[in-house]
Amino acid sequence: MKASNLYEQIYKYIERTPVISTHEHHLNDEDHQNITLEAIIDKSYVGWQNIPVGTTSQEHTQFLEKARYNSYFVWLQKAIDKLYDIGGKITPENWEVISNKIKRKHKDPAAHLAILKNQCRYIRALSDIYWETGSDLGHPELFSPVVRSDMFVKCYHPLVRDHDDNSPWEFLPVRGLTFREYMDLILGFHRDRVDKGAVSFKLATAYERPLSVGSVAYERAARIYMTDPKDITDEDMLAYGDYIINRICELAAELDVPYQIHTGLGELKGSNPMLFESTITRHPETRFVLFHGGYPWYHEIGALAHNHDNVFIDMVWLPIICTQAAVQALDEYIEVIPTADRITWGSDTWTSEEALGALLAFQHTLTQVLTKKVNEEYIDIDDAQIFVEKVLFRNAKNIYTLELPGNDGCLNG
Ligand SMILES: [Zn+2]
Repeated sequence: MKASNLYEQIYKYIERTPVISTHEHHLNDEDHQNITLEAIIDKSYVGWQNIPVGTTSQEHTQFLEKARYNSYFVWLQKAIDKLYDIGGKITPENWEVISNKIKRKHKDPAAHLAILKNQCRYIRALSDIYWETGSDLGHPELFSPVVRSDMFVKCYHPLVRDHDDNSPWEFLPVRGLTFREYMDLILGFHRDRVDKGAVSFKLATAYERPLSVGSVAYERAARIYMTDPKDITDEDMLAYGDYIINRICELAAELDVPYQIHTGLGELKGSNPMLFESTITRHPETRFVLFHGGYPWYHEIGALAHNHDNVFIDMVWLPIICTQAAVQALDEYIEVIPTADRITWGSDTWTSEEALGALLAFQHTLTQVLTKKVNEEYIDIDDAQIFVEKVLFRNAKNIYTLELPGNDGCLNG
């Protein structure tokens, strides 16, 4: 594509704008040491696609033939090109050279953070560390943690684990508690994490159960708690999770932290964001940040934000799932959302290389949409630039009440 002058003008403005990422699964420091090209691919959404990366040149050739057109791969490759100057494409011939460059860069143990701060321009990122929820990875200067609800929602008994293999019985001192004591403990854990700097709760339960959540009485949940898994019905299992989700919604409102909700993809039969609408209306004081444009149901996300003041839209992950869907979704959201203050972005990635790829995908999405909107005279260039700042950092700063160093009036200059 030949970029227009307006596209270039908007893109340059974006490249001078700081970024707050609302969602990262960034790996621990030691996991970035000795990282290779294979490992970066393996730890990315490309690696989710079940196309073997292989170890030999012949296997790499087969992998590249299959993966080359997929948007996860395309944007990861662009990021690797930007960081390691690979001549545009990963090929079987340059594979080892690239891998050696990656290993050399990460000999510096701070290299992964330097990429986030310098190339991704992150001034803050929200860490969803599902293997140790509430962690800031030992870098509080960059990461603000979120607390995941999934294990509390899924696990009514020590033999039950969530989709990330977590259990409250291993994470917290749960043994021997009554249900009332258990609820006090887990809600106390959330409060304590917020006291210590967590800025949001996060629900990714759509990977293992539907987003339809009913009202469930305390007594029913108390009866289900500690039921032997072989004696439980599917209905009871869901009802137990419903009870926990409602309690966490209430706590989010009380503590004034947003609740990030995974919608779309996951278990497709239950992850349509419309299924969550009854929960949105049941908890009008809770601020729900709906993730991923609800892909493939991105129109639904726009409609929910249109109708409910407590719905926020996060473009996280969408630009690398399908860049054109992200363009269409954002084009629509700008028009339908009552205020541009309710839209944010995060990378949703494990490595800095993939984070940069996700950012490049979003920058392209943002520029495509704003170029079109200015060309059509829907908005002018000044409003386009204000929108860039809102989506890249100002909205996240306000929604998650983030304290940032310095005067943010000087962040873009
Ligand atoms: Zn995620």
